[in-house]
Amino acid sequence: MKITEHFEKSKGETLVSFEVLPPLKGGSMQTIFDTLDPLMEFKPPFIDVTYHREEFLYNKRESGYYEKVAIRKRPGTVGICASIMHRYGVDAIPHLICGGFSKEETENALIDLAFLGIDNVLALRGDARKFETKFIPHPEGNRFAVDLVNQTKDMNEGVYLDCNIENGAKTNFCIGVAGYPEKHFESPNLNLDMHYLKAKVDAGASYIVTQMFFDNQKYFDFVDACRAAGINVPIVPGIKPVTKKYQLNSIPRNFFINMPDDLVASVSKADTAEKIQQAGIEWCVHQSKELKKAGVPCLHYYTMGDTDIIKRIIQSV
Ligand code: FAD
Repeated sequence: MKITEHFEKSKGETLVSFEVLPPLKGGSMQTIFDTLDPLMEFKPPFIDVTYHREEFLYNKRESGYYEKVAIRKRPGTVGICASIMHRYGVDAIPHLICGGFSKEETENALIDLAFLGIDNVLALRGDARKFETKFIPHPEGNRFAVDLVNQTKDMNEGVYLDCNIENGAKTNFCIGVAGYPEKHFESPNLNLDMHYLKAKVDAGASYIVTQMFFDNQKYFDFVDACRAAGINVPIVPGIKPVTKKYQLNSIPRNFFINMPDDLVASVSKADTAEKIQQAGIEWCVHQSKELKKAGVPCLHYYTMGDTDIIKRIIQSV
């Protein structure tokens, strides 16, 4: 079922959903089940599974020289989606990125997803790889997320890259895209970022999932700015609790977002692991309650393996 249909069916009630990361290569599917099994009591209608492209690593050889190798540390997105749908009977949303894919490979990936009965994709550009200073698209691939939205939309209309295909089967994907309440880090300003977000929606995206944020006002202002720009699709807030002190620095560094003073103060003054977690949980509960009260379509939790913490948060919301 399409995500937008879940929102329509919920008749204004705030849903709960989760994002999981594939396990590191060599890990097992059981880690995903261990994360999700305890959360299924909250009846998430859908679960997102992230996609991770290959990374460059430098392995030291016997000769002393370093060998550059490309390795995908977290493969398995599509298999995990199929497995989630099979085990829990809920929709799974694979994240699909431009980086590392030619358009042909993207087309084939979308065909696999359609054949598996997957109705939703989150269309993303992806980031620069480690040791690259900027995102470099595949020479025959999509450059921006909007190009991926366009390609998916084409397939929804039965249009494939091979122009000899006549009456091609129409896929039926509901397409989601990313939005950044505190702007995407490469964008010169929020207005221009908003312009490109609107282009994704105009191209056919049916909903937006936000980057995590810790100040709800940033989300509310973002939604207002989207509506003023003529973006009228559902905007799902992405939420993550702070659970460790070092995250006060690592989250802003990795996700280009600000931490509110009060959150920083309460986590900083906590002097045990338990108190730090408690401060993070309290903040996240407060955020979740306020967002729910404001009538957001869904509270989308970035689980990152913190099952017990996410469970405690939702129980309090
Ligand atoms: P785009 O929408 O293409 O935007 C990228 C930048 O280019 C922005 O600054 C935008 O303003 C600008 N821009 C857009 N269109 C144009 C244009 N036509 N001309 C000029 N500039 C333009 N990454 C992964 O690798 N795997 C994942 O699973 C994953 N999941 C994510 C889930 C969510 C909810 C979010 C918020 C992010 C996720 N990411 C993931 C990270 C994402 O890939 C990065 O943030 C990436 O840098 C941007 O992706 P995007 O789809 O927003 O890109």
